[in-house]
Amino acid sequence: MSTPDYPLTLDVAGRRTLVVGGGPVAARRATGLVTAGARVVVVAPDVCEELRDLVDAGQVEWAARDYETDDLAGAWLAHTATGDRATDDLVAAHAEAERVWCVRADDASLSAAWTPAVARSGSVTVAVTAGGDPRRARTLREAIAVGLDSGDLPLRHHRRAAAGDAGHPATGSVALVGGGPGDPGLITTRGRRLLAEADVVVVDRLAPRALIDGLDDDVVVVDVGKTAGNHPVPQEGINQLLVEHAQAGRRVVRLKGGDPFVLGRGGEEALACIAAGVAVEVVPGVTSAISVPAAAGIPVTHRGRSRQVTIASGHEGLDWASLARLDGTLVLLMGVSGLAAATAALVEHGKPADTPAAIVESGFLPDQRTTVGTLETIADLAAERGVKPPAVVVVGTVVGLHAALGA
Ligand code: SAH
Repeated sequence: MSTPDYPLTLDVAGRRTLVVGGGPVAARRATGLVTAGARVVVVAPDVCEELRDLVDAGQVEWAARDYETDDLAGAWLAHTATGDRATDDLVAAHAEAERVWCVRADDASLSAAWTPAVARSGSVTVAVTAGGDPRRARTLREAIAVGLDSGDLPLRHHRRAAAGDAGHPATGSVALVGGGPGDPGLITTRGRRLLAEADVVVVDRLAPRALIDGLDDDVVVVDVGKTAGNHPVPQEGINQLLVEHAQAGRRVVRLKGGDPFVLGRGGEEALACIAAGVAVEVVPGVTSAISVPAAAGIPVTHRGRSRQVTIASGHEGLDWASLARLDGTLVLLMGVSGLAAATAALVEHGKPADTPAAIVESGFLPDQRTTVGTLETIADLAAERGVKPPAVVVVGTVVGLHAALGA
């Protein structure tokens, strides 16, 4: 028989299905059927450990003997995987006579029904058959699974229930997704997938813009970032936007630079969603606090130099006395405009003026640039070189590694 050409998905829930054979292949078939909710009967004199676990858990019924003709009675579907040609022939012949679909593990070409290699992502199922070449089907399946997980394949839902549709409650939600700094390759695969499924994307100035360019034309992109001469949307307004779009049944991705929960106000957005009864998920991201120094060859901890790292916002009123006393590495975000004041305050509170300091601009972007000095010199150097945000300030002896690692 050539490749069957009538793909079909079956609702096996609650239906009797028969698995003949007790080895690992039979176990795989039984597991798939159990997952789909079928009533599974396994017929085999002995079963492998995996099947025994299913039996012990009460998930399959086991007839501990050889196959008998009656076993097919009342079955909707049969799998035969005994490893014994004669038995598989017998089961297949009975099944044919009884008009029960039968999948043979030993020889697909003799089989009436085939199980495809399957890739799943949420409610999407992709089944692959490849002309009797299961390895080829599996390889393809793997590639498709990666495409689904990474969001490279178009996963958007096109049948979206509008709010209030009878019988179709809206299923809007919000995902706070960390986009990492600058480079679109730094988002997690989970974030990328949610982005591919989004109806609405609410985006910051520092979120990787290249990710937005790849979205479908009908995805609503709301830019709440600050641009010159353009007022940013206040936090309260952003919270409200997220909640309103989700309540209208849309899948909302709040795409942020770095990590949503590191000086990113993601916590406030999550609280606003929860207060409004909107489902919210946080997808962590690569924070600029750690990764931007890394991009410049500065590990925030390093054996013999620093065993701790403190991350602070250079914008806000900081307790410079306590920061000056800390060992290890100090990382300041949003620290460009306050750089002179910050470095002076650290020295004034006792941090040695020759402590190495660096400022890394536009991490992971084409114009990334690193300026290295000390607490005493870095602010002047930065002014001379016209250092601009976004930039990360690093203070501590780890800065010395830039020479060797920052090539
Ligand atoms: N939640 C973000 C930080 C937001 S605060 C995170 O985890 O990274 C914004 C600050 O992040 C900027 O002022 C700058 O200090 C830093 N930043 C973000 N992206 C950056 C980049 N590509 N290069 C340098 N600094 C960056």
